[in-house]
Amino acid sequence: MRAVRFHDRHDIRFDEVAAPGAPGPHEVVVKPSYCGICGSDLHEYLDGPILPTREPHVFTGAKMPQILGHEFGGTVEAVGSAVTNVKVGDRVSIQPQMAPDDEYYGRRKQYHLSPKGGVVGLSYQWGGMSDLAIVNDYNAFLVPDDVTDIQASLVEPAAVAVHAVDRADVKQGDSVLISGYGPIGALCALAAKAAGAGQIFITETNPKRLDMARALFPDAILVNPREQDLPAIVRDNTEEGIGVHSAIECAGVGAALNGCVAVVRRQGTIVQIGLQTHPVSVDLLAWTFRDLIVRGSICYPSDSWPRVMELIAGGKFPVEKIVTDIVPLDDAIERGFKPLLDPAGDQLKILLKI
Ligand SMILES: [Zn+2]
Repeated sequence: MRAVRFHDRHDIRFDEVAAPGAPGPHEVVVKPSYCGICGSDLHEYLDGPILPTREPHVFTGAKMPQILGHEFGGTVEAVGSAVTNVKVGDRVSIQPQMAPDDEYYGRRKQYHLSPKGGVVGLSYQWGGMSDLAIVNDYNAFLVPDDVTDIQASLVEPAAVAVHAVDRADVKQGDSVLISGYGPIGALCALAAKAAGAGQIFITETNPKRLDMARALFPDAILVNPREQDLPAIVRDNTEEGIGVHSAIECAGVGAALNGCVAVVRRQGTIVQIGLQTHPVSVDLLAWTFRDLIVRGSICYPSDSWPRVMELIAGGKFPVEKIVTDIVPLDDAIERGFKPLLDPAGDQLKILLKI
């Protein structure tokens, strides 16, 4: 069968691999329909291996070359003898985190916090950029009829955004700054609106991405912090100039984090979700004097799927609007990875049609 595999940094290939055999008792074989290319897939290409391992993974035993794809939905092809949550023919969306159930976080099903955890499509034998994938039964969530196949493939990044908005403690009527308009920034803006946010500010330095943000969020205040005075704009557009209630930093750039500190109100919340891959210099005195809350945010709790799909099904969270192209699996490298890796490119989110 076909599979897109990560062989090493700057080496992602379209390969022919052996199809999976029969599922184990608690396993499900899924035929992916759509699979998203994620920023972390691009990070693997540019700077990896980050999550894939050369030696067998401590929990899953997987090693490179790694089949990619952790954002997907599909149809159940086969189920193991002990599977009760889904059946053959069901449409499912995949929650890709897994962890051993005999350690602290795994026992609590907080798979995303487990130091030994594995991820489908990054540190596990199978992935969504392939004709078939085996997952554990707990990784497969039934998709409601009013959620499309395309939406089902976007539940994973959408859950990342919903968790970040939870961490930012966004309440009805709050003003929120989204720092960095990549796919996760776009989903965070949608999730903040779904949570009831009022005024939304979006910062972005790439003019093409600012245009995309303008098209999807006509009511948002858009700022290019390299060319405009962000603190002044936020002051002028918040009640009594106090600043935004919360900021969600998706750019992973030090200056962007400090920009958030400059514009949240006193006792405001900042959530760092973008990957700050280099140490950052910050003014901790400002954090203290302004009574700030600064939090990290990683992935999502494993029980997020029903809630996120309910938001999508109800029309409050139109995740499909961030998709800028859908290309066949066979064109994954040329028309999927390459346009997203182009710094001057005009793509935001590309799905592979399997
Ligand atoms: Zn991802």
